[in-house]
Amino acid sequence: STRDKVAFITGANKGIGLETARGLGQAGIAVLIGSRDEAKGRAAADRLRGEGIEGVEAIRFDVDRPGDHQEVVRYLQDRHGRLDILVNNAGVALDEADFGAPGGVNTTSAVTPEILHRTFETNVFSVVALTQALLPLLRRAPAGRIVNLSSILGSLTLHSDPASPIFDMKAFAYDASKTALNAFTVHLAHELRGTPIKVNSAHPGWVKTDMGGPSAPMEVSEGGRTSVLLATLPDDGPSGGFFHLGESLPW
Ligand code: NDP
Repeated sequence: STRDKVAFITGANKGIGLETARGLGQAGIAVLIGSRDEAKGRAAADRLRGEGIEGVEAIRFDVDRPGDHQEVVRYLQDRHGRLDILVNNAGVALDEADFGAPGGVNTTSAVTPEILHRTFETNVFSVVALTQALLPLLRRAPAGRIVNLSSILGSLTLHSDPASPIFDMKAFAYDASKTALNAFTVHLAHELRGTPIKVNSAHPGWVKTDMGGPSAPMEVSEGGRTSVLLATLPDDGPSGGFFHLGESLPW
């Protein structure tokens, strides 16, 4: 293939992940779509191929299944021998009332340990484990990029600022999971200083996806822009930052 870079995107069968796959594919990058539902992943890949994007593949991938981490490592190792771009996009919002989770528990005093555990499992622990498993392949790329899909709701600075629009938002499990993910971004970026690998957190914007709901101001077609920008940063670009489009957000 003439495509000399390969990207793996988790949760890329729909929403922001699919849009990111489209954007990276259009930029000439070979894209591996991760989807926990194999048929949905295949359908997403077919759709992009139908738009004339080459080099799209799909793999069944549930971020919460350690066996799937090993599968994707093996797949990338065998077919590409390395990984240029990892987009940790898959995520859940189990207690985010505004995000339309039916029956979601959205107060800090009422959130159940189960909701907290499941949210942190998918949004944090699984992301850390997957990234660790893929780091050897990212180290083989000339300019590895890691993008962690965070949220402005993970910003403690904005949560504690009475002048901020998110001051009184209260989905503790979701918000805290994104704060923890941001901590992972910062710590990993420190460890990777002096390597070509860059790792950054993305706030995609409030986007009309199944998670974002119909009131979101951003169209899905715009929702992948921040992820694509961070996945294709030049060698003199930032690492260990938190961005929406070109703008830096406070932690
Ligand atoms: P969607 O709910 O539309 O899509 C989420 C994707 O993640 C789906 O492909 C879903 O798969 C997948 N997923 C969920 N859990 C798992 C799992 N255990 N293993 C593998 N895949 C999984 O959400 P968005 O596209 O809106 O969100 C993408 C990311 O952006 C998330 O991390 C979210 O937190 C973040 N974000 C979104 C915002 C928005 O306004 N939409 C705002 C800020 C951040 P399936 O189809 O099988 O459910």
